Amino acid sequence: MRVELSVVIPLYNEEANLGELYQRLLRVLEPLALPGGFELVFVNDGSRDHTLPLLLALAARDMRVRYIDLSRNFGHQIAVTAGLDRATGAAVVIIDADLQDPPELIPLLRDKLREGHDVVYAKRRSRQGDSAAKRLTARLFYRLLARITHVSIPVDTGDFRIVSRKVVEGLRQMPEQNKFIRGQISWMGYRQTFIEYDRAERAGGATGYTYRKMMRLALDGITAFSDVPLKVATISGFLVSGIAFLVALYTLYARFITRDYQPGWASLMLSILFLGGVQLISVGIIGEYIARLSANVRQRPLYLISDTNMPPDLPLVK
Ligand code: UDP
Ligand code: MG
Repeated sequence: MRVELSVVIPLYNEEANLGELYQRLLRVLEPLALPGGFELVFVNDGSRDHTLPLLLALAARDMRVRYIDLSRNFGHQIAVTAGLDRATGAAVVIIDADLQDPPELIPLLRDKLREGHDVVYAKRRSRQGDSAAKRLTARLFYRLLARITHVSIPVDTGDFRIVSRKVVEGLRQMPEQNKFIRGQISWMGYRQTFIEYDRAERAGGATGYTYRKMMRLALDGITAFSDVPLKVATISGFLVSGIAFLVALYTLYARFITRDYQPGWASLMLSILFLGGVQLISVGIIGEYIARLSANVRQRPLYLISDTNMPPDLPLVK
């Protein structure tokens, strides 16, 4: 049984925001008076605070509250994927729980979708609250990614968006372990558009995105959508080899023809260090790709569910 609109919300230690989020979602969604109804799909991503009991209490009161309790913390992208796998809506909204993505935009997103688009994403015109370092790294990352991928992934855009059923089914056909949902959606094509908004501060609680998790997301995005780092490794290998060849010629010339040579400790040290650095970086880049290859070869399920009030995954609609 499908509803008209699903809202997928990943939760990681969001006890401070869950109540207000629920209220604000209802205040936005109820006036829409959707004939087909709506559902709120909350995915508890291994929270360590009281998010789960709060969520279960909501679900007991309100039939429209759906919950998926993952067996541990799998990370934001996988939590969203779990929600998308089970959401039944003809259209699905992805939104953060911390009210940085204002629920009040949902009607606008939906209006645009109904004009005949399959994806309407919300682009950040400005962002408040986040630290200067976070804003800077995000800015750099989006621009770097735009330069080195073939897929045009919109800059300054998170996962806050509405997508059609077609797009959800497309995502469900992508079994990759290292999820970068906004990239996968860009890759799909269809008719995509955006609206702009000013990103608010986190309402309560603290960010669940540590620098480590951000780094992982960035590397997942880059490796899933670009081979440029591998090419850079190859090209720098050729460049360094070329320079080394010239230096070798000169060394031989100095040693045997002019017989004017120095003990050369400094140049030796420099070239050894430089070569070592280039080699290690290249091996590291290859390693990032191999790690992802092996993760996909293992074919583990992306996540495990410990409890839910939702029906099992619907079969894929093709
Ligand atoms: N989140 C999650 N698992 C995690 C980290 C975050 O499900 O491991 C959720 C979090 O509850 C929120 C959304 O992902 O709904 C965005 O996270 P957060 O606000 O911490 O990231 P930021 O806005 O700081 O980038
Ligand atoms: Mg946030």
